[in-house]
Amino acid sequence: MSDLPAGSAVQRVGMFGGAFDPPHWAHRSLAEVALTQLRLDVLHIMPTGQAWHKARVLSPAEHRVEMCRLAFGDLPRTLIDTREMHRAGPSYTADTLGELAAEYPGAKLYLVLGADQLLAFESWVRWQDVLQQATLAVANRATHIGADAPLEQMQEMDLSGVRLPFERLSMPLKNISATAVRARIGQPASRHGPLDVLVPETVASYIDQHHLYQDPT
Ligand code: ATP
Repeated sequence: MSDLPAGSAVQRVGMFGGAFDPPHWAHRSLAEVALTQLRLDVLHIMPTGQAWHKARVLSPAEHRVEMCRLAFGDLPRTLIDTREMHRAGPSYTADTLGELAAEYPGAKLYLVLGADQLLAFESWVRWQDVLQQATLAVANRATHIGADAPLEQMQEMDLSGVRLPFERLSMPLKNISATAVRARIGQPASRHGPLDVLVPETVASYIDQHHLYQDPT
């Protein structure tokens, strides 16, 4: 839990980065849990530019931003922040947190992420800077991400070996990944399958209207 006294005037600012290609229900749950559990004053949803650690080419920025607006737009105290998409060259979380620290002087910063990202955290560029600037707030994730496996077969990632400080977010496991969403859309037989179990209905309609993810990667 927080080390700040109740009623503290210190602002609590969250950053939740991702490719959001597309945003899905687990992203939305993560944002909701972060807002309430961390008692955030504001949550910046931060779609990445072409992320340095993602091998596949992402969908165009305007589609991902629009889908973020549809997926998160009705959440309180939440804004879609496109700064990383406009940054020339690779975009690093350490730089973005530095900007947020300057914009919210004295604020307590939280970086919201899933367990897979925590396990890869020490490969991030200037991860020590990230840790100095923000508290990591982590939701666990199923081991077979992307598999879209039934709930009863889900196992959570083992974070017992993680030596970094982090705060756990209490989010029930959701075995949804953007990879699984794209894969489902790419299968002709299930094109009209229940996409809205994976993404909000508005996002599903947007994907359909714009013919996204026809060639899954
Ligand atoms: P992809 O399948 O394309 O790799 P993804 O589903 O992991 O995408 P991202 O946009 O890369 O989605 O994820 C943004 C953030 O959300 C990351 O910190 C990731 O760990 C977290 N996240 C995504 N899905 C889940 C989930 N099911 N449970 C917990 N965290 C999640």
